[in-house]
Amino acid sequence: MRLITPSFTSNAYGMMDLNAVALKTSPAYTLGTEHPTGLEYAQYLQVVSQYRKLPVQTGVDVSEVIPENDGFRLIHSGGELRSRYVIWAAGEFQYPKLDSFSGAEYGVHSSLFSSWTAVQGDECVIIGGYESGVDAAIHLSKLGKKVTVIDRNSRGLSKGSSDPSVELSPYTKDRLRTEMVHERIHLIQGYEVKWLEPEETEGYALYCENEFGDSHLIKTAQAPVLATGFQGSLHLIEHLIERNKEGQLQLGAADESTITSGLFVTGPQVLHDHLQFCFIYKFRQRFAVVAKAIGERLGLDLTPLDIYRQEGMFLDDLSCCGEDCTC
Ligand SMILES: Cc1cc2nc3c(=O)[nH]c(=O)nc-3n(C[C@H](O)[C@H](O)[C@H](O)COP(=O)(O)OP(=O)(O)OC[C@H]3O[C@@H](n4cnc5c(N)ncnc54)[C@H](O)[C@@H]3O)c2cc1C
Repeated sequence: MRLITPSFTSNAYGMMDLNAVALKTSPAYTLGTEHPTGLEYAQYLQVVSQYRKLPVQTGVDVSEVIPENDGFRLIHSGGELRSRYVIWAAGEFQYPKLDSFSGAEYGVHSSLFSSWTAVQGDECVIIGGYESGVDAAIHLSKLGKKVTVIDRNSRGLSKGSSDPSVELSPYTKDRLRTEMVHERIHLIQGYEVKWLEPEETEGYALYCENEFGDSHLIKTAQAPVLATGFQGSLHLIEHLIERNKEGQLQLGAADESTITSGLFVTGPQVLHDHLQFCFIYKFRQRFAVVAKAIGERLGLDLTPLDIYRQEGMFLDDLSCCGEDCTC
């Protein structure tokens, strides 16, 4: 798996590398590649944290965040920690969504494969056709397997929204186009999987339906790959955050919980109305907003944040975002 967002050494001309998380850094420069693997990107993060002398403690699993009079108590695998403020940045990847439909437990979530060579047989069904599902399809097709991808939306190679939070990235479209030539990838678009169950003898059956009531009953010898997304880490602090009737996370103007003062959220789960900050180049622009809110309360000098505004890393006016491309 590689980052889909490209890295490029554009910093010197006022456009920071899309995958950089800190000022004056560029994964393209550090790693010399456009689409770093996870391991490569981890190297970049390590270099940045060492250079900035961040007090990172690894191997510490936080299980509970408890609000107290003057801050928070955190229960973790090594004991307890106290802090006046908490920034929740625990991401999504370790928390896959495993209950999207009836019988989902018979599938295997895409995040649980360390190599696509682990998929047996010569055919495979993938449920979910966004970035993870299509990435899996491309790799499995390259291994010579016939792949069926089922998705409730009609993304594929077509041109829809210009927001990469809902559309396949150009990097993925390029690779899909190249691989489709071999006619091993079959996209079933606009269909939602309703149930999956094991067959009496061997294999699995799954049923999917579109909005007009048309349906497919698909039989497959292998357990389908679930590329159905991530539940995310917020469930660990669910009682400390607010959601609206549609289940969307509600945050204050500085990404602070609306019901727990001093608890902030950063990363791909940040959401304001229809704006999803699920890519690095989006959510990195909110770090300084959180820093300002905490800095103000601590009475700190905020001038070090000026450079963040100059460098496009301080997005506090959201009216600029969400525009569609015109052509
Ligand atoms: C499959 C996939 C592909 C993606 N590709 C891209 C891409 O190409 N470009 C892009 O911009 N974005 C991409 N994203 C979005 C992605 O979420 C972010 O880019 C990025 O990984 C989020 O960074 P983060 O630091 O907020 O969370 P993460 O990278 O998920 O890091 C969270 C950290 O918190 C730790 N943690 C979790 N729970 C606990 C706990 N309870 N206690 C202590 N520590 C904990 C984890 O160990 C981890 O180190 C992708 C996401 C996924 C799932």
